Amino acid sequence: MKIENYRGVIERYRKFLPVSKTTPVVTLLEGNTPLIFSPKISRLLGSKFRVYLKYEGLNPTSSFKDRGMTVAVSKAKEEKQYAVICASTGNTSASAAAYAARANLKCIVVIPQGAIALGKLAQALMHNARVVAIDGNFDDALRIVREISLRFPVRLVNSINPHRIEGQKTASFEIADVLGDAPVFHSLPVGNAGNITAYWKGYKEYYSFKKISHLPVMLGFQAKGSSPIVQGYPFKRPKTVATAIRIGNPASWKKAVEARNESGGIIDSVTDREIIYVYKLLAKEEGIFVEPASSASVAGLLKLNKQGYFDRFIKRFGEITITCTLTGHGLKDPELAVKKIKPPGVVKPTLEAVVKKSRINREDAVP
Ligand SMILES: *Cc1c(COP(=O)(O)O)cnc(C)c1O
Repeated sequence: MKIENYRGVIERYRKFLPVSKTTPVVTLLEGNTPLIFSPKISRLLGSKFRVYLKYEGLNPTSSFKDRGMTVAVSKAKEEKQYAVICASTGNTSASAAAYAARANLKCIVVIPQGAIALGKLAQALMHNARVVAIDGNFDDALRIVREISLRFPVRLVNSINPHRIEGQKTASFEIADVLGDAPVFHSLPVGNAGNITAYWKGYKEYYSFKKISHLPVMLGFQAKGSSPIVQGYPFKRPKTVATAIRIGNPASWKKAVEARNESGGIIDSVTDREIIYVYKLLAKEEGIFVEPASSASVAGLLKLNKQGYFDRFIKRFGEITITCTLTGHGLKDPELAVKKIKPPGVVKPTLEAVVKKSRINREDAVP
């Protein structure tokens, strides 16, 4: 059997992307991530649900940001920029740094001090970005990098850069290609709201090309302590354990509201408690380790289901297919994981002690 060479999202979806024959394609073979059926989450919701998880933690830098970055950095390269710059809660900087390294561009990242998960910081540093921490939050960082990009020949690669959105929309193409149609619902976490904008754009384009027979209903979830879209006003001091969505004034606020309204969907919030519950659940029951922000997509489903939100859809469709974006890998934030799950204590280096500690049943010993 000949295995087709995978060449990244730009080559796969070239005709849907703003690239030409002369665009230098900067790729780490992002995309093509698995869409994993989740028996546990499906069952937890009820017998009429089929839930699929789009595991974006399996991208080259372990988050969906790579889909947008391959396009943004390729375009920056084509347009002869000297460097790329971004504000970041972590994953954008990790991705920008890696793609800039690949493209031989300089990369500057501005981060809120003390608010970046360790794995993400390690990535930006290892990929040789110039990391500047500010005594402020993400929204301050974004304001500053926006200004810098207007005054210097440095390309902004936050999701307000339309090339990011273009690249990220390929995730909905992949989902539709695998399922053979759009899901009834698509759920994802919302931070700066670029991704919900991108997915909705992707689904709409596929619909206009008749690749899918209907559009999904978009469900977006913010963390309660940083839920400006839900509350209707910016948060000065956004708070949540899910650092990737700790954003008080989303850049794509309007577009997210459009996606919600046009699709007849919902943007709601989930508590940190609900986020952590699903964070643990996916790891221990499904074998999928994500970062806390990612689990907001699934936590939101559980919340809506409890409120009876899906009932009328089940009446109408019988069975409903839901896809959830799991935006980033759990290894990004190992400190949180060991804080939430108590590491086991140390025992004497004997068989006895290890058998006891690991709770192996003594009666099962082979005679
Ligand atoms: C960036 C990011 C988000 C939020 O995406 P937006 O496009 O900012 O809404 C969610 N989860 C993870 C892991 C991220 O890196």
